[in-house]
Amino acid sequence: MKMVIHVSSAIHDPVIARAILDTGVEINVDRANIDATSGEIVLEVPADSCARVATAFERQGASVSILEHPIIRDEDECVHCGACISVCPVQVFSFKDDWSVAMDESKCIQCGTCVAACPHAALMVMSE
Ligand code: SF4
Ligand code: SF4
Repeated sequence: MKMVIHVSSAIHDPVIARAILDTGVEINVDRANIDATSGEIVLEVPADSCARVATAFERQGASVSILEHPIIRDEDECVHCGACISVCPVQVFSFKDDWSVAMDESKCIQCGTCVAACPHAALMVMSE
């Protein structure tokens, strides 16, 4: 399951390493945007360990959001043009046999590239 961690004053602390050591859970970093004052990190965490991992981050002062749906598509707007297929770096989208566009949101790392590429503004990155 995807989880978004927001860190601010503790940006120089090894928050991910501590969460792994605290919980023993294998955490995969999908994406990290970090500057001098704050950071947003998208993680892949085993679904049955989400609560424990979230608590480990919150104990360090981070705010945590579980992403049930990292990306959503407005089915009324999508025209199945396939533009999102070519730009997504992690193959969330694919053509089905009938040439409609399928979507596996569980792979999404929330880079936002498809949102900008969609000619019908059908895609939206979710914050929680
Ligand atoms: S780019 Fe937009 S309209 Fe085209 S298939 Fe993807 S979501 Fe649908
Ligand atoms: S935001 Fe769009 S392009 Fe980026 S990983 Fe998710 S589905 Fe793919």
